[in-house]
Amino acid sequence: FDQLDGQIWFNGEFVPWREAKVHVLTHGLHYASSVFEGERAYGGRIFKLREHTDRLIASGRVLGFEIPYTADEIDAACNELLERQGFTDAYVRPVAWRGSESMGVSAQNNRINLAIAIWQWPSYFDPEQRMRGIRLDMAEYRRPDPRTAPSKAKASGLYMICTISKHAAEAKGYADALMLDWRGRVAEATGANVFFVQDGVIHTPDPDCFLDGITRRTVIELARRRGIEVRVRAIQPEEMEGFTECFLCGTAAEVTPVSEIGPYRFQPGTITRQLVEDYASEVQPQRMAAE
Ligand code: PMP
Repeated sequence: FDQLDGQIWFNGEFVPWREAKVHVLTHGLHYASSVFEGERAYGGRIFKLREHTDRLIASGRVLGFEIPYTADEIDAACNELLERQGFTDAYVRPVAWRGSESMGVSAQNNRINLAIAIWQWPSYFDPEQRMRGIRLDMAEYRRPDPRTAPSKAKASGLYMICTISKHAAEAKGYADALMLDWRGRVAEATGANVFFVQDGVIHTPDPDCFLDGITRRTVIELARRRGIEVRVRAIQPEEMEGFTECFLCGTAAEVTPVSEIGPYRFQPGTITRQLVEDYASEVQPQRMAAE
């Protein structure tokens, strides 16, 4: 991935993709003092860019650092990079981290770096499997108690258990894993939020200890716009037995139907299909401009 062509925005400058390097003694690498975002551009416009930028800045603050650029500057950098990369539809990845000026847990004076990379990432899950519904394993690890980790931040450290869980699921032939929370309630997948349908009503977990996705909020709004009731509540894993449809949503995953989670089975149905379509039209720039 470090051998692609193009440019990367790195601390205020556009540098060749292959030269955007950090030192091995980077604090972010050793101690996970790093936060990031995942955004998608559609038709040349980054969907909900400001919300992502605000969340990036907020995530940094949760980790105790201030990204040395304003939201306007970060938005402008993302937009200019998108143009320079020449893509209309692409994935946008800003990342901020503590630098390599000193080594040790404490790194009060290390520089806060910001980089942005943009690449083409068509479908997060296998496109063929996608509309039939992807298969999820149950993850071994749980989302941590908010008293154990800053669960609201999109912080790299929180992704360690996601990668372990996703790799374990993939090794068994699954596309992803469903993580429970520290109390044993249904939480989310390793990089996307989860929704269920039962008798025409949507149920989704209350994001009190995991990321309240921007896509999640968009999907709730789209469903309500259609007059579909959405219940945000605590969901016990056994309840999955009674749900007929299930889907994941996230910036990379968009709206992806799920056919299987551990022992539970679902059929991508009317509501899932409707929301796949509604989300696809919502992200189009003409739609955004109209609002
Ligand atoms: N949960 C996790 C763990 C994620 O990585 C993501 C993707 N950022 C989401 C949920 C969905 O968030 P969003 O819709 O803001 O992309």
